[in-house]
Amino acid sequence: MEIKFLDLKSTYLELKDEMDSAFTEVMHSGWYLQGNSLSAFEAEFAEFCEAKYCVGVGNGLDALTLSLRAMGIGAGDEVIVPANTYIASWLAVTYAGATPVPVEACNTTLNIDPTKIEKAITSKTKAIMPVHLYGLPAQMDEVNFIAKKYNLRVIEDAAQAHGATYKEKKAGSLSDIAGFSFYPGKNLGAFGDGGAIVTNDKELADTVRSLGNYGSVKKYENKYKGVNSRLDEMQAAYLRVKLKHLTEWNSRREKIANYYLESLKDLELILPCTPEWATSSWHLFPVRSNNRQQVLDKLQKAKIGALIHYPIPPHLQEAYKELNLKAGDFKISENIADEILSLPIGPHLTMEEAKRVVEVLHG
Ligand SMILES: *Cc1c(COP(=O)(O)O)cnc(C)c1O
Repeated sequence: MEIKFLDLKSTYLELKDEMDSAFTEVMHSGWYLQGNSLSAFEAEFAEFCEAKYCVGVGNGLDALTLSLRAMGIGAGDEVIVPANTYIASWLAVTYAGATPVPVEACNTTLNIDPTKIEKAITSKTKAIMPVHLYGLPAQMDEVNFIAKKYNLRVIEDAAQAHGATYKEKKAGSLSDIAGFSFYPGKNLGAFGDGGAIVTNDKELADTVRSLGNYGSVKKYENKYKGVNSRLDEMQAAYLRVKLKHLTEWNSRREKIANYYLESLKDLELILPCTPEWATSSWHLFPVRSNNRQQVLDKLQKAKIGALIHYPIPPHLQEAYKELNLKAGDFKISENIADEILSLPIGPHLTMEEAKRVVEVLHG
């Protein structure tokens, strides 16, 4: 039995009839950008996130970049980011024109360590960007408390956290503005690229919408030097179909996660933490091992897909060599990168497959 890390085709097959009629409807509408599918999806996704406004954009990276730009953050400014994250969080800061300032991860949650944020604040700091990495919400009360104290904005990178909750509130509603990705492999994935921002601030929402549409507020009147970053009608229509199933699909992920947590606790693996103040979207199921290669070999031999999220932290990437950061600067994040691996999880992973993963790991 071969077990894929993530089975994307099954997401289409399960919803084939609804997907095919969404396709037909958009095709026959004769309208492919900025139409009814987008506005309906935006209203539905805002409601799902318990926020007032949602604006669709081209991808998750743009959602974060345009959020920063809408807040007036740019050249000369600093934005605090987690050292342990996917590099897109940092790139958003760079594209906005600002400088990412990393803060070490908490060794338990693997998210930004709020106790280390204050030391990183300077007179140039304008915002903090916590990431709900792997689907587990960051410690938002602590982050928001510091932000308030220093008069900083907060942007959630919620690209992996559709449907996750923090103290019973949805990811995306926990700060000034949040960026989501609809990359196909995300919990709510399009069949191509897509992204959105979610916020309760009308002015921010309007500015992001304008920035994503050439900076225009009214046709042919350009207030900003914007970009072209829009969520198209076809993707919006597909996302509307999938959004109706997101809660159920997230609970399938949770069932697998709970099974892994229970069945792997006798092994020498560090399992993901499950704090009582949050529910994860279980975008990933990351475990840590100081014999990672051995574990990976075992899985590979049994034809089980496993991946590393992420093997090189952003501060050690060539892309960020100008920051002059080196190995040893963020030891916890570096250890995570050396030890972590993600087991298969997803709405279409069967219990039999999950059992096989557990069996192989015990072998
Ligand atoms: C996927 C992802 C992004 C970027 O989203 P894209 O849609 O691929 O541009 C940003 N941050 C994190 C944490 C992500 O996982």
